Amino acid sequence: MIGRELAAAIGCAVAALGAAAPDPYAAQRLRMVSEQIEARGISDARVLAALRRVPRHAFVPASERAHAYQDRALPIGHGQTISQPYVVALMTDLAALGANARVLEIGTGSGYQAAVLAELAGAVYSIEIVAPLARRAAATLAQLGYRSVHVRAGDGYRGWPEAAPFDAILVTAAAPRVPPALLEQLAPGGRLVIPVGGADQQLEVHRRTERGFEVERVVAVRFVPMTGEVRAPPP
Ligand code: SAH
Repeated sequence: MIGRELAAAIGCAVAALGAAAPDPYAAQRLRMVSEQIEARGISDARVLAALRRVPRHAFVPASERAHAYQDRALPIGHGQTISQPYVVALMTDLAALGANARVLEIGTGSGYQAAVLAELAGAVYSIEIVAPLARRAAATLAQLGYRSVHVRAGDGYRGWPEAAPFDAILVTAAAPRVPPALLEQLAPGGRLVIPVGGADQQLEVHRRTERGFEVERVVAVRFVPMTGEVRAPPP
């Protein structure tokens, strides 16, 4: 009896919350997932659910908000972009995250990919080389309640050794070569998902096995360049 009353009361509270904060973008977001993500072959229910939850419009500048759910990358200032929704979904899918996974992202940008990762993993560490972008992403994530995401301003070339090892590392800027520290910071069985190349880039997955690393080239992509130490001449 008491149980049923309580359930009814909780039901009311949820309904009231929903009424207080309607999301005008909810329909666009559901359409984005079915037409751009599922239609292109991503079927993992947890990945799809994460993309249905994260309010992508909250991660783009006000001037881009009307386009937030379109099938493309969008400018976020400082010459950088928020990746196309499908690319975010694909990289998330390739990371194959368990619920307690520890994840490192290089290239926080808007913070959107970090939020999607946080929906699926246990802890997310994200590094952004453009300090004002790092600050804005951290503020957006905090405002939306993503407490498991840790953002740091700096060059991600050397990873985040104090928080390693990671079950997955995602690099969301194109690197001319794979930063060695990122491979070193993978846990056994862990995966590094990284676009490699210059004008022509391939999305690669490096998986740490008992014997070393297995590499798979997945698809041609186009990301903004990774900057910083990865561009320095090799020693
Ligand atoms: N994941 C982002 C997309 C970011 S675009 C999102 O969801 O919005 C790539 C980002 O990588 C840019 O913000 C760029 O400034 C950053 N970046 C480039 N080189 C970097 C480096 N060496 N370390 C950390 N971030 C880097």
